[in-house]
Parts: sequence; C-alpha cells; structure tokens
Amino acid sequence: MAKNIIQQSGLPKYIHLWQSTMNWQPDEGHILEFQSFYDFILEANQQMNLTRIVEPKEFWEKHLWDSLRGISPFLQGDSIATENEMPVQLIDIGTGAGFPGLPIAIARPDWQVTLFDSTNKKIIFINSVIHRLGMENAKAITARAEELGQEAEHRSQYHVAVTRAVAEASVCAEYALPLLKIGGLGILYRGNWTDAETDSLEIAVKKLGGAIDFIEKFETPFSKAIRHCIYLRKIAPTPEEYPRTVGLPSHKPL
Ligand code: SAM
Repeated sequence: MAKNIIQQSGLPKYIHLWQSTMNWQPDEGHILEFQSFYDFILEANQQMNLTRIVEPKEFWEKHLWDSLRGISPFLQGDSIATENEMPVQLIDIGTGAGFPGLPIAIARPDWQVTLFDSTNKKIIFINSVIHRLGMENAKAITARAEELGQEAEHRSQYHVAVTRAVAEASVCAEYALPLLKIGGLGILYRGNWTDAETDSLEIAVKKLGGAIDFIEKFETPFSKAIRHCIYLRKIAPTPEEYPRTVGLPSHKPL
C-alpha cells in the first residue's frame, strides 16, 4: 500500500539527491514517512489552507529538504551534547503545517521534538499526522511563543530551537533564546540576509543572553534560491522580562 502511494506521487525520485546535496542517506522508513506526511498534507489541504507548495518536486525542495538543511551537520555525524545522555530536546516555534519540526522528527527519531503554533487547527492536523505515523518522539501544542517562553515547563528546557518564516530575526531570537538551556542552539531559517541584519540581530541576542555562533549561506538544489541559517548560541540566562507580553516582540523588536 505505502509503496503504491510512493510510486503515484513521485517523492522518491529525489531520494538520491539527499546524498549528493546534504550527504545524508534516508532509509526506507524515512522515505515512507515523508511520503505519508506529504499525502496527509495534500488530503488536509482540501479542507484548510496548510500550504501552497503541493507539487512533489517543490514540496521535496522547499519543505523537506529546506527543513533538514538547518540541522544537516547533525545528520552527518556532529552531535549535540546533552546531560546524562538524555535525548536531544528540540522545539519548533510557529511550526505551521509542521516545518521544519516534523521532517526533523522523522529524520531523527532519537530526538524529542515539540512543535507549537498559535493556530489550533494546524496543531490538530499535526497531532493527527503524529498519531497516524505512530511517532513517539513528537508532540504538538497550541501556544504563543511569548507565553510558552515564560512557562517553567518550557523555559530553558531545550537543546535546540528552530524557527522558519515566523517573524523578523530579532523577534525569532526573542522567542527562541528563553526556551534554550545554556549552551543550547537556536537555528533561524532565513531567505536573503544582509550584514545590516547581522548587526541588528547581534544587539538583540546580546540582550537575550545569546550570541551569533555562525551564519551559513546556501542554495536550494533545484530553484537555486538563496537561503541562510543563522545559528545562535545561548551563553547566559535570558533576563526574566523576555519574552515580553503577547504582540510586543513583533510590534517593538529589540
Ligand atoms: N514554520 C512554518 C513554515 O516554515 O512553513 C510556518 C510558517 S507560517 C508563515 C508562520 C506561522 O507562525 C503561522 O502558522 C503562525 O500561526 C505562527 N506564529 C506566528 N507568530 C506566532 C507566535 N507568537 N507564537 C506561535 N506561533 C506563531
């Protein structure tokens, strides 16, 4: 059954490209899960507006490949230090239809992935995907970043925080850094990026207990679009006042 679906909708055509573009070789289980996730999105898209990226090639590049590109060092052997060998705890801020968090949870079943978004119907969809795929390493919750970052259950609890297409970079930093443990990594998925943006982000992350670790520029494999991943490191506790109340980070970015 799953194999038939694979042949119909064509995502496996791109399997060899993972190796050549990301030096990562998914196994059959990964491929089946990516395919099912894609099928569930197409199905749910008939009822709600989850994504406009629905063609297999575009879906593979702009959703699956792009989601994993930010954590590619950790698919190629780099590891993330955790306490007492506990699983890596990763949180995806403003996940929408599950990007980049769900492809990450599929690729790294040994990591614990929390996905959240302020839109409840997207979270209901993601939880149905998690349930239908039988994933034990992912959970999705409805929440606002400004509130979650102040909750003891989530504040300073994560080794990695990722966020794509949610807000301007300094706003994303205000959402991400409070959620990270000291030493944790924030990964901001961005499109074009300028030195001026680096300068203003640097000012914001300093206030939040963070620093810019490094910035990586790359091209997507088919459309050759420019992307940047901004890797932040939490180096000190985030002052209690951050994140500020709902709406304030985006209305008055740091
Ligand atoms: N990250 C996904 C992606 O790359 O496809 C979704 C991007 S979508 C453009 C932005 C998402 O961020 C929306 O689903 C929105 O509900 C969510 N969002 C925006 N601000 C948020 C906040 N303060 N807290 C939680 N979710 C937020």
